[in-house]
Amino acid sequence: MYACCNIKKFLKLLVIDAVVIGLSFLVFTIGKTVSGSSASSGGDKAVPLPVIMYHSVYDTSPTEYIITPSQLDSDLAWLSENGFTSVSAEELVQYVHGKGELPEKPVLITFDDGHYNNLSEALPIFEKYDMCFIVSVVGKYTDSLAAADPHNSSYSYLTWNDISELISSGRVEIGNHTYDMHSLSGARKGCSRMEGESEEQYRSALSDDTSLLQNDIRAACGYVPFVFAYPYGKISPESIPVLRDMGFMMTLTCYERMNYITRDPDCLFNIDRFNRSGLLSTNDFMSVMLNEQKNKAECT
Ligand SMILES: [Zn+2]
Repeated sequence: MYACCNIKKFLKLLVIDAVVIGLSFLVFTIGKTVSGSSASSGGDKAVPLPVIMYHSVYDTSPTEYIITPSQLDSDLAWLSENGFTSVSAEELVQYVHGKGELPEKPVLITFDDGHYNNLSEALPIFEKYDMCFIVSVVGKYTDSLAAADPHNSSYSYLTWNDISELISSGRVEIGNHTYDMHSLSGARKGCSRMEGESEEQYRSALSDDTSLLQNDIRAACGYVPFVFAYPYGKISPESIPVLRDMGFMMTLTCYERMNYITRDPDCLFNIDRFNRSGLLSTNDFMSVMLNEQKNKAECT
C-alpha cells in the first residue's frame, strides 16, 4: 500500500515535472523568437540612435528652448570630434526597410516649430560641419506669422520660400508639426485625443489638420513630409494608424531616451529626443544624452 502510493506519487510528480519542463521550454522558445524579432532582423544588431531636439538659434541669452549660434557650433564640433555622423530621416527609413547601412555612431538632429533662424543661423553651421537636420514646421505659423515679418532671426517664422530654400540646400528635411494643433490652451493638448471625444472624431480632427499642412507644403515647396513631430510631445496611441495611413514613416516625441534602430519599420514610430537646453554646456548636454537619462522633458 505504502509502496503503491509512493509509486503513484512518483509517477504524478514525474508528469508534473515533464509538464513544467515542457512549458519552460515553450516560454523560452517564444521569448527568444520575440526578443530576436524586436531587437534585430536578419542578424543585424540594434543600432543606438541619440536624437537632439533644438528649437530657436540666435544671439541672445540662452533659455531652455533657445541656444546661441556659438553653442550650436560647439555641439556640432563635439559630435564631429567624437565620431558621430548625422543621418537623415530618409537614410533611417531606407535602413529599417533593409536597404543600406547606418554609420557606426549615427545621430539625428531635429528642430521644432519652424523658426526663421533655422535657415539664417543654423544652416550655415550645418554646412560648416557637413551635417543634416530635420525642421518640423507649424502650418499656421508660416501662413499667419511668417509673412508679416519674414526676416528677423529673433522672432520670425519660416515663410514657404524659406522652407523651399532649406529643402534645396540638400541637407534639410521638413517635418509636419501640425497645421493648427500647436497649443496647450484649449481642451485639446497638442494633437492628443480630447476627453469625451470618440475615436472617429479624433481620427478625423487629426487627419484634417495634418492633411492641411501636408497639402500646403506640397503646393508651396513640391515636397511631401514623412516625419511627424508631436506638439509638446502629447501623444495619443490612436494617432499612429492615422499618421501611418497618411504616409508618415517616422514620428518624434519628447521623451528623453536613447533609441535603438533595427530593420523593423515600426521602430521609427515614436522616436525619442533630448531637448538641447541652452542652459547647459555642450559637454553637460552630451553627457546627459549619452548616459541615457530617462527623464521626461517638456517640449514646445
Ligand atoms: Zn513645437
